[in-house]
Amino acid sequence: MTHRLCLMIEKSVCRPWIWLIGVVLGFSVLMPTAGAAQATPVVERISFSAQDDGQGYVVRIHTTEQLAAYSEPRFVQRNQLEVILFNTQLSSSYRQEIPGGPVQAYTVQPRQGHLVLLFQLDGQIPIEATASRDRATDHMLLGLTYVGEALPMASAPAYQGDALASDDDRGRWRLDTIVIDAGHGGHDAGAIGAGGVREKDVVLAVALRVGRYLEELLGVNVIYTREDDRFITLRDRGRIANVAEGKLFISIHANAASNRRAQGT
Ligand SMILES: [Zn+2]
Repeated sequence: MTHRLCLMIEKSVCRPWIWLIGVVLGFSVLMPTAGAAQATPVVERISFSAQDDGQGYVVRIHTTEQLAAYSEPRFVQRNQLEVILFNTQLSSSYRQEIPGGPVQAYTVQPRQGHLVLLFQLDGQIPIEATASRDRATDHMLLGLTYVGEALPMASAPAYQGDALASDDDRGRWRLDTIVIDAGHGGHDAGAIGAGGVREKDVVLAVALRVGRYLEELLGVNVIYTREDDRFITLRDRGRIANVAEGKLFISIHANAASNRRAQGT
């Protein structure tokens, strides 16, 4: 692990000493409504119904708790829509139900503590996908709204229950902004490695690179608490994150040890 991390940093930084990178994920800090000791949400079933205005379909993801965070629905391939439910499990009693509307097939795949949902759409009508949380039930709703042409939906039964949440609600739960916090900076150098390598420089380089990866891979908005060598108080780091309305706070630190076998953070 240490070696791979070192590749991300300047080689000269890692050669004489071993740097141990620590990443702290601050869900509870930034999501006060989620509560500190929240149970892991479990998906029990997924159901499909026509929107009551006939303009599309609603995929209802029945969860035991409200989801702390989920990804923006995105097309990973033509007609293949992906949504990731973060820190979510699949119920042992989960049984796949028959999809409806424009969804031809779907899979639910656990991956590293998250659930990856893939929906195969028939592709006959262009669709806009939006994720939201149902205020009444804590379920997650995936709205598949037809865009453009009038629709051949006359035969679809009108369904009363699944009105989509407001834009406000959607925005609040979308994992759209990630705050990356490079530790230390300015007069606070952090840990000092052999040859005078300073933690503040190492973690800044890591932070900027991690941010770039996240922007490219997830298409999310990345906010940095610092992008250069300056001192920022802990209080200000939190303030920056809250003002940006970040959904995830990643704080990056690195410790140094003279023992090459050292592990952990
Ligand atoms: Zn530190």
